[in-house]
Amino acid sequence: MQDPTPSDDAVITLSKVSTSFGEHVVHSGIDLEVRRGEIFALIGGSGSGKSTLLREMILLHRPDAGSIRVLGVDLQALGDGDADRDTLALRQRWGVMFQHGGLFGSLTVQENVGLPLREHTGLDDALIDEIAAWKLAMTGLEPQVGAQYPSELSGGMMKRASLARALALDPELLFLDEPTAGLDPESAGEVDQLVRKLRDLFGLTIVMITHDLDLLWQLADRVAVLADGKVQGIGSMSELAQVQVDNPAIRKFFDGP
Ligand code: ADP
Ligand code: MG
Repeated sequence: MQDPTPSDDAVITLSKVSTSFGEHVVHSGIDLEVRRGEIFALIGGSGSGKSTLLREMILLHRPDAGSIRVLGVDLQALGDGDADRDTLALRQRWGVMFQHGGLFGSLTVQENVGLPLREHTGLDDALIDEIAAWKLAMTGLEPQVGAQYPSELSGGMMKRASLARALALDPELLFLDEPTAGLDPESAGEVDQLVRKLRDLFGLTIVMITHDLDLLWQLADRVAVLADGKVQGIGSMSELAQVQVDNPAIRKFFDGP
């Protein structure tokens, strides 16, 4: 089921990635590849190392061993710190929607969305405001929401606003940590449609962490199951459904909670 030969359209390649926190081994030799234009999902029980793996792909944590290439760049070869020129250039090519939104409470929604543009481009304020308003519209938020503060938003609106911020710099690659967690089924369905639209309209490559079976069945092209520090299987949901009988770590996801 797992293709061992690296393909030319790999956007992310992890090879033998190992990570421990003290004595606690989180990843022991993770190999995986994310291909251009796909929606790739990472699933696994709580504490299985999904968020840590995502953080490693976006330079927020360095693994103890192994290699990670993202958009053709070997992450180990990058200098430490945000000031490094190549690091900055790479960071602008991806967008991240964090599990808890990650919006700044002291800024309006529109200011939050404009922040990456302020930090990474020399555009003037008027243009930044215009782009931020457009990104908010793209995620289906009404124009007046831009003037609100994050604390005034519902869960679904918060997800949309953080998605708008993740899209601020027109990324090639989008990382979503639990995009529908905590949402009612209707809002979750709307976020689901939105993610699909982003992939279909812009050809974005999307890496998402989720427990949401609807999202997995409807959106994920391929899914990697993490357990015991390893990738237990990679494939489409229907491929995983077929092999689950032989692997309890995969079966768990089909049995439900
Ligand atoms: P998941 O997202 O799959 O729930 P995480 O990647 O957040 O799992 O965490 C995996 C394991 O690593 C957990 O046991 C967690 O407690 C531990 N862990 C994560 N980050 C740190 C950290 N910065 N320091 C110590 N332990 C951590
Ligand atoms: Mg997590």
